[in-house]
Amino acid sequence: MVLLDGKKTANDIKDEITISVNEMIDLGEKVPHLAAVLVGSDGASLTYVGSKVRACERVGFNSTLIELPETTSEEKLLKVIQDLNGNNDIDGFIVQLPLPKHIDEQKVLNAVNPAKDVDGFHPENFGRMALEMESFIPATPYGILQLLERYQVITKGKHTVVIGRSHIVGRPMSILMSQKGPAGNSTVTLTHSHTKNLSEITKQADIIIVALGVPEFLKASMVKDGVVIVDVGISRVPDDTKPRGYTIKGDVAFDEVSKKSSFITPVPGGVGPMTIAMLLKNTLIARKRNT
Ligand code: NAD
Repeated sequence: MVLLDGKKTANDIKDEITISVNEMIDLGEKVPHLAAVLVGSDGASLTYVGSKVRACERVGFNSTLIELPETTSEEKLLKVIQDLNGNNDIDGFIVQLPLPKHIDEQKVLNAVNPAKDVDGFHPENFGRMALEMESFIPATPYGILQLLERYQVITKGKHTVVIGRSHIVGRPMSILMSQKGPAGNSTVTLTHSHTKNLSEITKQADIIIVALGVPEFLKASMVKDGVVIVDVGISRVPDDTKPRGYTIKGDVAFDEVSKKSSFITPVPGGVGPMTIAMLLKNTLIARKRNT
């Protein structure tokens, strides 16, 4: 079994980005600038945004964190987005999800200038991605592709089963795995909460990408020997033995499934760090396009 080490690979990618930033500095060019908008004070969102800001510092990017109260109106948030769209110093920005219930998430994502949409959530970028045109690939799927490619996992002609059809992970992943090119050319089955006999499908899979948010959902009895496993899930499970009071679990029962796997991502240290690295990569791309 080979561990798909997202932490190490993400660090490699950050080192590559740092080299590009240093080249920009040597040429007297502006360094990339990422902004993040956080509405409210959800614990997990605060952690994610904090990691993104620290990652910017690590590679030499400028970063701006805009923190808005939970009670922020949709109108006010749309105004903040318009300002970021028009600010030439900001190369890319993200709106941390989820948003409070009184705000229409899709309306907000639609307001982001597609050229600054480094999360790749705007319909224009999603459509361009599906058509294999130049776009921003959403950071988590992009990170998974990079992990598979850098570990030389063969995807061509393989049967990939994706569990979960969210707009940010499952659905784009199902599209990308079937596309031409590296970490593509796979035959894809997209499964979701209405899929019948899921185990019968996962047992036929050469590669399983699991993104549903149910701790340790995928068991050894559901997979065949030699399977490649990508675990996207991040759930906080109460744990009194930990100082924080919780432990992080993936969607895969790692101990039993890893025994049957050829490659597997750990949680934490797999897809999570890759997501942040690819957000930085998208910001670097945005900066280069913004010249
Ligand atoms: P989501 O929560 O929006 O949707 C869950 C999906 O799972 C739905 O499409 C649903 O149809 C499917 N599903 C639910 N129960 C199912 C079942 N029994 N069988 C088959 N499918 C079922 O999904 P999301 O936003 O992609 O998040 C999924 C998990 O991934 C969460 O734990 C989230 O925290 C995590 N996540 C991690 C990263 C990362 O960087 N590692 C990024 C995004 C999301």
